[in-house]
Formats: sequence, C-alpha cells, structure tokens
Amino acid sequence: MPAKKDTSKMYAIGIDLGGQSIKGALVNNKGKIVDDIVVPTEGEKGPKHVISQIRILTQKLADSAARKKGHVLGACVATPGLIDMKKWIVRIAPNLPGWVDIPLLKECQKGFKFPFLLENDANAAAYGEKWIGTGKKSDTMIVLTIGTGIGGGLILNGKVWHGADGAGGEPGHINYDPNGLVCGCGNPGCLEAHASALGINRRTRMAIESGEKTLITKLIKNDLDNISPEIVYQAALKKDKLALRILDETGRIIGIGIMTLVNLLNPEMVALGGGVMKAGDFILKPAQDEFRKRGFKFLIDRTEIVMAKLGNEAGRIGAAGIVFSEINAK
Ligand SMILES: [Zn+2]
Repeated sequence: MPAKKDTSKMYAIGIDLGGQSIKGALVNNKGKIVDDIVVPTEGEKGPKHVISQIRILTQKLADSAARKKGHVLGACVATPGLIDMKKWIVRIAPNLPGWVDIPLLKECQKGFKFPFLLENDANAAAYGEKWIGTGKKSDTMIVLTIGTGIGGGLILNGKVWHGADGAGGEPGHINYDPNGLVCGCGNPGCLEAHASALGINRRTRMAIESGEKTLITKLIKNDLDNISPEIVYQAALKKDKLALRILDETGRIIGIGIMTLVNLLNPEMVALGGGVMKAGDFILKPAQDEFRKRGFKFLIDRTEIVMAKLGNEAGRIGAAGIVFSEINAK
C-alpha cells in the first residue's frame, strides 16, 4: 500500500555557524534530522560572504522541505560570540574575522518568507540537550560545553536563559582561583582558563617544563606545541601518571564550578559535552566526586551530573528546537 502523503509536515531549519564550517539541517518536530548540508565557513572572506553561505544553505534546505511537501516553520542560526538580543546584532564573534556589530538576523531574513531567529551557539546546544538529548525530562538544567573554551547554557523552566541583554549563561568565566591562570576574558582563574582544552594544554606544558617525566613527551615528538587534550587522553589510557593527574584535576576544577552553579540555580541536571569530554570518565568521575565533597547533601543527592548526548549535532538540532518552541508559542 503506498504511503499517505502528509501535507502538514512541519520542519525547522537549524544552522550551526562555526569557525570552520556552517552546518545546516532540516529537522522535524521530533528532533530528527531529515536532510543536512555542511559548507565551509570561509570566514577569512568576511561577514558578507559567510552570510551569503548561510542564505544559500537555507534556500537549499527550504527546497528540500518543499520536495517533501513540508512546511518550514522558521530557521534559527546558532552563532558564536555575543548577541544583542534586543537589536538582533552579533556584537562580536572572536573566531570570525571582521564580525563586529553584524545585523545577522536582518541580513539572513531578506527574501525568506519564514521567520529567522538567532541564538548563541552554546545556548542552542544546551537547548538541543534539553529537547531530545540527555535532559529530555529536565526543565531546569545546565549544559557545559568543554572545548577550546568552556561555553554553556542555562535552561530554566524549559527555556534558554539570556539575561538582560543576551549575554547570560557563561559558566566558563566562573572564578575558580583568583590567583590562577589568566583567561581570554582578562580575569585570572576562570574555569575556562584552567579546564578548557587550552587550560589542559597549559597545565600539561607547565608540568613537563618543570621536569615531570611522562609518556606525553614521546607522543608530542618533543614539541610542546603539539600538546592536546586528545594526546593527554591517549596517555591516560596507557596509565601515564601525569596524564591521569591532569584529567583528574580537570574534572575536579569542573566539579567546583558545578558546585557554584548548583548552589545558585538548583538544576535537576548538569550535562557535560564538547570535545574535551571525549575523555569521558577520566573527567566525569572526579567532577562528580568533587561536587559530592562540597555541595549541600540535599543538592548532592538530587542533582545528576552526566555526559551530554548529542555531540556535534547539538547546535543545529537545538537551533531547530528553538524554532519549534518559539514559533509555536507565538
Ligand atoms: Zn574568563
């Protein structure tokens, strides 16, 4: 029997604008990707070029929806950097050359009949985890994305928390050690300065420079610039003492940050994602352990600290989820 055509199919277009690539997806209302396109960002060609890449990709996904006899509810661009959510301007995106005060929403919207939305990329990823990932059953959750930096998103009562201007939800800059390593934001001792990929690289480098013997030296072919969380993880798998200690410390630093967030917001769940979390239990276990040592008993017992589920897809799926949530609500 031929399948019935469903003319009321609703789709959202989720777009994850990254430094290297722009990942777009046509997503149904269950969070399933039904079509996807990835193009290089080519950020060095400037904001105009990047915006035209987003528009071409959006049109292709809209065409794909039309071929499926579907209806596009809207599109959401998950963008890095700081968004002014009153004016829908990207104030600054440090990883994209020339991105200062870019009216991204207005530029993307030109010529499209369905509405565009903008969201910070870490917030979109957090919403993805809430929508169909590990936080499906949680209305109040925190996602920490631990990669080159530490991004994050706060989901409070089922919605992304933006703060007064759109700059809320930056747990990477919680202070861990007021006399610690200087962060990209200028402050000494942010969580990000110590526990991000760059933080792991810095702490590993300092330990090797101070004369600690480690397998890492061989894995990096004696070039300290080759240190990466991946190499530290490889060495930890081989039970290298320094690598195990660096990852353990990373988890404990994150656990201390989690304690601050949990005391402040009382979430049901804290999910850890991002490239650094490939190290899994080497970081997750000490993070849970450190939190357990420091939190209030009631909070320790009721707060789940878990791995995020959606990986690299979180940004575009979350962006699409925001379309369903925001546009359905209007
Ligand atoms: Zn900072």
